[in-house]
Amino acid sequence: MRIGIIGAGQLGQMLGTAAQDLGFECRFIDPSDSPPAGSTGTVIRKAFDDPDALAQLAADCDVVTYEFENVPVEALHAIADVVPVYPPPSALAIAQDRLHEKRLFDELDIPLPGYRVIDSRQDMQAAAADLGLPMVIKTRRFGYDGKGQVVIRDLQQIDAVWDQLGKQPLVAEAWVAFDYEVSIIGVRNAQGAVAIWPLTQNKHVDGILHSSRSPVENHGLFERASAYMNRMLSHLDYVGVLALELFVCNDALLANEFAPRVHNSGHWTIEGADTSQFTNHLLAISGQSPTSTACSGHAGMLNLVGEIPAAARQFEDERISLHDYDKTPRPGRKLGHITVLAASAAERDDLLQTVAEIVTGSTPAGGHSA
Ligand code: AMP
Repeated sequence: MRIGIIGAGQLGQMLGTAAQDLGFECRFIDPSDSPPAGSTGTVIRKAFDDPDALAQLAADCDVVTYEFENVPVEALHAIADVVPVYPPPSALAIAQDRLHEKRLFDELDIPLPGYRVIDSRQDMQAAAADLGLPMVIKTRRFGYDGKGQVVIRDLQQIDAVWDQLGKQPLVAEAWVAFDYEVSIIGVRNAQGAVAIWPLTQNKHVDGILHSSRSPVENHGLFERASAYMNRMLSHLDYVGVLALELFVCNDALLANEFAPRVHNSGHWTIEGADTSQFTNHLLAISGQSPTSTACSGHAGMLNLVGEIPAAARQFEDERISLHDYDKTPRPGRKLGHITVLAASAAERDDLLQTVAEIVTGSTPAGGHSA
């Protein structure tokens, strides 16, 4: 089985490693000089939407997938007649536009924060009156890791924010004073077999995922989040891994966004679950059934952003695993992560806190698990 993957970043690298374990071969498209996934397969060094590179990928591979969301959907449509492309390009098209994403949540009865479409300065003023302040203005497209977002706390900011962002289609979102954030990750194959990992609690700093912990021991929340996940998977006739991020607010679960791909908040599944998100994604897109998503302990994950300090390489504790993506350090860039795996939630929280203090001088979650 040969898997074509658009993008050869760290998600491609982790997919490529899982593919090697399954005996699959990977072929990537990525224009960068030394992409992280290069160690796990052949890289066609062309733009993600290069027609020749895509045609070659389609001709050489049994199935094509993608590891990031800014792949032009037209590029996927162009090869979908020749080779199966999973997750479905139609799901990617929705995820690429926050307005379409929110309308899907509405259609599927998945609760979400109040929102308004913003096409003018006046829309922004009306949204502030309707949603109240603070509110968040987000670009509809090409936002990631908190980029393309501004929080409006004062009506006097409106002019400046419109001048800054108004050239692009926007949405306004009510500010959610959430208790904490969670994500639910599920996988489905073309025959409709579904598996869902335990709920994960996430902490973001400056819009970037800082750390994750799983499982969240709250059965009621898991039941609701997995009902939403099931609704999305079947509505989208989805194949592969899907991640849904939600706010937990006074016991309400409000959908923030979804990602039609393997997800940073699921990295703990490599060590912490019977089957990782990467392996199950590959099984699902290659026509096999996903295998057990049960967790094998209490896992925590800490992202290494901007640098991998020497201390991160010096742990001699079998409960601690370092993943180095082999990327050139740059401020704000995700360079690696550390997973901890413990027998209890308390042990996991202590270990994650210790690791975070040693590695980054920060604390992972400002308290205990939900
Ligand atoms: P996003 O790119 O939409 O996932 O936003 C990045 C992060 O910003 C989220 O994970 C939250 O921590 C925060 N955030 C985004 N939207 C809101 C909101 N409406 N209310 C409160 N925090 C938000």
